[in-house]
Amino acid sequence: MVNYKDLGLVNTREMFARAIKGGYAIPAFNFNNMEQLQAIIKAAVETKSPVILQVSKGARNYANQTLLRYMAEGAVAYAKELGCEHPEIVLHLDHGDSFELCKSCVDLGFSSVMIDGSHLPYEENVALTKKVVEYAHQYDVTVEGELGVLAGVEDEVSAEHHTYTNPEEVIDFSTRTGCDSLAISIGTSHGAYKFKPEQCHVDPQTGRLVPPPLAFDVLDAVMEKLPGFPIVLHGSSSVPQEYVDMINQYGGKLEAAIGIPEEELRKAAKSAVCKINIDSDSRLAMTAAVRKVFVEKPAEFDPRKYLGPARDEMEKMYKHKILNVLGSDGKLAH
Ligand SMILES: [Zn+2]
Repeated sequence: MVNYKDLGLVNTREMFARAIKGGYAIPAFNFNNMEQLQAIIKAAVETKSPVILQVSKGARNYANQTLLRYMAEGAVAYAKELGCEHPEIVLHLDHGDSFELCKSCVDLGFSSVMIDGSHLPYEENVALTKKVVEYAHQYDVTVEGELGVLAGVEDEVSAEHHTYTNPEEVIDFSTRTGCDSLAISIGTSHGAYKFKPEQCHVDPQTGRLVPPPLAFDVLDAVMEKLPGFPIVLHGSSSVPQEYVDMINQYGGKLEAAIGIPEEELRKAAKSAVCKINIDSDSRLAMTAAVRKVFVEKPAEFDPRKYLGPARDEMEKMYKHKILNVLGSDGKLAH
């Protein structure tokens, strides 16, 4: 049994309370390799932002849960070495799908876990989430629950269609489960193909596809039922077209990859939404940079020569999100 506090990590409670009051959101970036983690920590340190490191099921399968935990512990030391005296880093389990998994993460030193029972019948979701909360809270680990179903594919989490969160359920769910934050479904979705072209309209100025707006009426209704309660948005990559173009320019084949416009996320960040999950944008930045090196320098075979530029591109993207979308820069408590 390792407590996250001994690793220098923090849970989400304080940072979410401050984010709601301050009208900004904390970035939750997924990681499964060293370059991504370095880019996240450098971006967070340089912007003086709190940050949530997320570990998904796919990441655990790819990189091993124990190794990722030690990497997060290393990230705290790295942030300090970069000059951040009091980093606020959360190690969060993304889409936990069972009590046993959540327990193993709590026991290993995670400071926050998500239990995703959103695919279960309501009463089963309540019971499972409550069980995780009761365990996690003994160690002051915070818990994210989910109501409503997001469309799209994220590692092994996938659904064909989304179901918006029912605002009538949120009071009952949060009260009975005791969860610390709630992921809701308002039209964001997992992956880089969030919308079908036929759902979008063409912007006459840019010729780009513009997706349908998020259901802010659902968000407003949830906030009215649960004033001041931390809300989480999953699947909130914006799928920057510059990366999609770059990938295609250098031999890739991404067709109609469409994300959430940053304008919508900026609006959400100012509300009770205090955690915004971004994964696909990092994948796109990394792939674009790697492809560019492969095409421009075909004789290059030192991984540092293509993973290095990929890391720089990810760092630039993370900083942009913090500074221009989420507004979490300069928000460390100390
Ligand atoms: Zn998700």
